[in-house]
Amino acid sequence: MKRIGLLTSGGDAPGMNAAIRAVVRTAIYYGIEVYGIERGYSGLIEDRMSPMEMRSVSNIVQRGGTILRTARCLEMLTEEGQKQAVSTLEKHGIEGLVVIGGDGSFRGAKCLTENYGIATIGIPGTIDNDLQYTDYTLGFDTAVNTCLEMVNKLRDTMTSHERISVVEVMGRHCGDIALYTGITSGAEIIIVPEVPYDMEDIVMRINRSRENGKHSNIVVVAEGVMSAEAFTKQLQEVTSYSVRATNIGHIQRGGSPSMADRMLAAQFGNKAVRLLKDGIGNRVVGIHDNHIIDMDILEAVSMKKQFDYELYETLQMISM
Ligand code: ATP
Repeated sequence: MKRIGLLTSGGDAPGMNAAIRAVVRTAIYYGIEVYGIERGYSGLIEDRMSPMEMRSVSNIVQRGGTILRTARCLEMLTEEGQKQAVSTLEKHGIEGLVVIGGDGSFRGAKCLTENYGIATIGIPGTIDNDLQYTDYTLGFDTAVNTCLEMVNKLRDTMTSHERISVVEVMGRHCGDIALYTGITSGAEIIIVPEVPYDMEDIVMRINRSRENGKHSNIVVVAEGVMSAEAFTKQLQEVTSYSVRATNIGHIQRGGSPSMADRMLAAQFGNKAVRLLKDGIGNRVVGIHDNHIIDMDILEAVSMKKQFDYELYETLQMISM
C-alpha cells in the first residue's frame, strides 16, 4: 500500500490528535504516504485533503480536539455520497483509509469496504466508551478525569453548605462516564440509562448518609436519563436538603489527553497502519484484557454494549 487517507468523524475526543500523530508517523516509518482529510466524511466527499508530513503532527500529542476537525455528514448515508467519497479516494490514488470515530463512523467505513473495496481501519475515538468490543475507547479516560476534577470542586462547596449536588455528565445510551465518575469521585448515587432509578431508595440513601455524619451528597446523572435541572427539581420535592444542579457539558470533551489516552492513541494508530500495510482492511482496533486487538468492523458494531452491573453494585456498597 502506497498511500492512505486519515479522517476523524463524529463527536471529538481527547486523544484524537495523538492518534493522528501515531498514524502519520507509523505510515512514514513504512514509507506510506498519508493524506489528512478535513471534517470527516464531508471532507472526503468535498475533496478537502492534503498530504501530511512528519512535522504536520509536531506538538499535537498533548492537545485535545482534532487538528483535522470533525463533522457529521448526512450525505455519507446515501449511495450518491458514498460514490463521491470513493471517487475522491480514487482521484488521489488512496488505497486505504483510517477512520477515527464512534460506531456511526465505523458504519461509514464498513460501507466503503463492503460496497467499494476500499481497505478501512476504524480507531475507536469517542468519550462515551459505548463500544462493546473494546474495553476502552479513546477519550473516555480523559473525560472521566475532567468530570472528577469538577466533582471534587463541587464536593468542597456542597460540604460547606450541606447541600446535594446533582451533576450531569455525557452519555445518551451508555452510563459508563457516570459509572466511572461516580465510583472514583465517591458519589453516593449514580443514575444511568441502563438501570431504572427509584426516588424513594435515593432519598433513603441520602438520609442514611446524613445520619452517618455526611455533610453533602453527590448524585451523578447521565444525560440520557434526564438533565441535572430536571432531576434537581424532582429531588427537591422529596428532600428538605438544598439541591443544586450542574451540567459539566462540553468541557468533558476537551482538554489535554491523559497518559492512558495517549498510550491508547499510540497503540491504536500504530496497529491501524500495520494492518493496512499488510493489506488487511475492514477491521477495527481496540484493547481487550490489556492487549491491542483487531476485529471485523461489522462484528464490532453489531455487539451490544453490556453495562457493568458488578461495578454498579460496588458503588452501592462503598458510597454511603
Ligand atoms: P459519537 O460516538 O461521538 O457520536 P459516531 O461516529 O458514532 O461518534 P455519528 O454521528 O453516529 O458519530 O456518525 C458519524 C458519521 O458517520 C455520520 O455523520 C455519517 O457521515 C457517518 N455514518 C454514520 N452511520 C453511517 C452509515 N450507516 N452508513 C454510512 N455512513 C454512516
